[in-house]
Amino acid sequence: MLCQTIKVGTECFFMGKQGCSFNGGICYPVVESCQGCGKAMTLSQGTYCQSCPEPQIKWKNGSCNLATHIKSGTEKVVKLNPLKASKRSRR
Ligand code: SF4
Repeated sequence: MLCQTIKVGTECFFMGKQGCSFNGGICYPVVESCQGCGKAMTLSQGTYCQSCPEPQIKWKNGSCNLATHIKSGTEKVVKLNPLKASKRSRR
């Protein structure tokens, strides 16, 4: 159903005939860690997340898994062996 509280007009799982069923009946603004995320949207009431009604929870146990401005922690760091690298450059 379409939101009628904060993100007016956007489709929301928590909105029902009796109003918003999310904690407190409203969405909560983004937190400092959300700065730069593509999912943050600025409204007249403040800046809110398009995907999560309470951004603070997404950062509680590490990085937000929906964030667009950070890389996931699963990337491998490739270490170069300087000796092999120098041999490769001579070929
Ligand atoms: S997706 Fe995560 S990082 Fe981005 S605005 Fe929402 S809660 Fe914040």
